[in-house]
Amino acid sequence: MTQGRPLLNRSLAEFGTTIFAEMSALAARTGAINLGQGFPDTDGPEEIREVAARAVLSGLGNQYPPGPGIPELRSAVAAHQARFYGLEYDPDAEVLVTTGATEAVAATLLALLEPGDEVVALEPYYDSYAACIAMAGGVRVPVTLRPQEGAYRLDLDELRAAVTPRTRLILLNTPHNPTGTVLTREELSAIAELACERDLLVVTDEVYEHLVFEGEHIPIASFPGMREHTVTISSAGKTFSLTGWKIGWITASPDLVTAVRSAKQFLTYVSGGPLQYAVAEALRLPDGYFAGLREDLRAKRDLLSAGLTEAGFEVYGPAGTYFVTTDIRPLGEGGDGFAFCRSLPERCGVVAVPNAVFYDHREQGAPFVRFAFCKRQEVLEEAVSRLKQLAA
Ligand code: PMP
Ligand code: GLN
Repeated sequence: MTQGRPLLNRSLAEFGTTIFAEMSALAARTGAINLGQGFPDTDGPEEIREVAARAVLSGLGNQYPPGPGIPELRSAVAAHQARFYGLEYDPDAEVLVTTGATEAVAATLLALLEPGDEVVALEPYYDSYAACIAMAGGVRVPVTLRPQEGAYRLDLDELRAAVTPRTRLILLNTPHNPTGTVLTREELSAIAELACERDLLVVTDEVYEHLVFEGEHIPIASFPGMREHTVTISSAGKTFSLTGWKIGWITASPDLVTAVRSAKQFLTYVSGGPLQYAVAEALRLPDGYFAGLREDLRAKRDLLSAGLTEAGFEVYGPAGTYFVTTDIRPLGEGGDGFAFCRSLPERCGVVAVPNAVFYDHREQGAPFVRFAFCKRQEVLEEAVSRLKQLAA
C-alpha cells in the first residue's frame, strides 16, 4: 500500500501469478515431470536455429528492426496465409509482427476496446485474455464450451444470446487451449454470419493452426465478409517448437493493422530482430515439415490419452493443440482439480494444470485437469506409468 491504496492497479487485482509459472515452479521444486505448462522438451528445427545464430553473428537485426516487422518476415507471413488458406494479405499494409501471440492479443484488445465494451469469448479461455480485456477496461462475456460425448462443444444459441448492443468483438481461439476443440466449418460460418449481421469485430487466436488431428483448421477470415472484420493472430512458438522466441504476428485489413500497431508501438516498439529472419525461413519450410510435426504430436496425443484412460481418468480427446483435458472424478478424487494438481507431484511425480483457472464460472471447470503432450515419447511413457500408481 502507498497513500492508503493497493499498489496494483485494480483491473489486475484479481489476477495472481499465472498458473503456468506456479506449476512450472512446482515441477522444478519437486523434480516432477512437467505436463503442466505447454512447451516442447525438444527444440525446433536446427537449420532454423542456425539462421538465428548466423543473424546474431552477422549483425542482422541486432539493432531495432522496423516497427511493423522486417519485410522478409511480413512477406513470409503473407505467403503462409496464401499457401495454407488461400488468403491474400499485403505484407506492407496487412501484416504486423508482434512479440508473440501474447503481445498480439494485448495490443489488439488495447487498440480496439473502449472502457465498458463487451468481449464475447469462449470459456475456458487462455489466461492472458481475461487480463488483457481487463487492462483495456473491457467486460468479458464468457460463452462456455461444454463437454459432450467425449469432446467440448460450442452452443451457437448461447453465443448468439451473449451478443448485446454493447458487444464490440468476439474473441475466438481455434484450435482451442485447453480443450483441444477445433471449431467446425458450420460453427465458424454461423459465427461469421453473426459478426457480419451485428457488425462485430472478430479476433481469432490461431497459434495451434498446424496442430490439428481431426477435421481441419479454417481461419474465420476466409468466410464471406469476414476479411474486413477479422484480426487473425498466430506465432512461431507452437508451429516451430520455439516457445521462447516470442515472435508472433497479426494479419488483418489495413485499418485494423494500423490500429493495432498504434498500441504495439508503445508496448514493445519492435520485436526481436535476429529471430525474425529465422522465423521468415521457418514459415517457408516445405509441407513435409508441418505434416511431420502434426503426425509426431498425433502419436503423442494417442499415447497420453490411452495412458490417462488406463490410469482411470475420463479423457476428452483433443481434435487439435497439444493438450488433453481430463475429468478426475472417475478416479474417485472428488471434483477439486486445483487440490488434485497441487498434490499430484508429491503423490506421483507429475505436474498438470487445473482447468478451473481458465473459467469465470470456476465451478464449471472444477473437476477438469489439463495435461500437455508436447514431450518426448519416453517422458510421456514415464508420466503414464507414474499416473497409473494413482489407482493402485
Ligand atoms: N494463445 C494461446 C491459446 C496459447 O496457448 C498461447 C501459449 N503459448 C499463446 C497465445 C501465447 O503465444 P506466444 O508464446 O506466441 O506469446
Ligand atoms: N500457452 C502455454 C500453455 O497454455 C503456456 C504459456 C505461458 O506460460 N504463458 O501452457
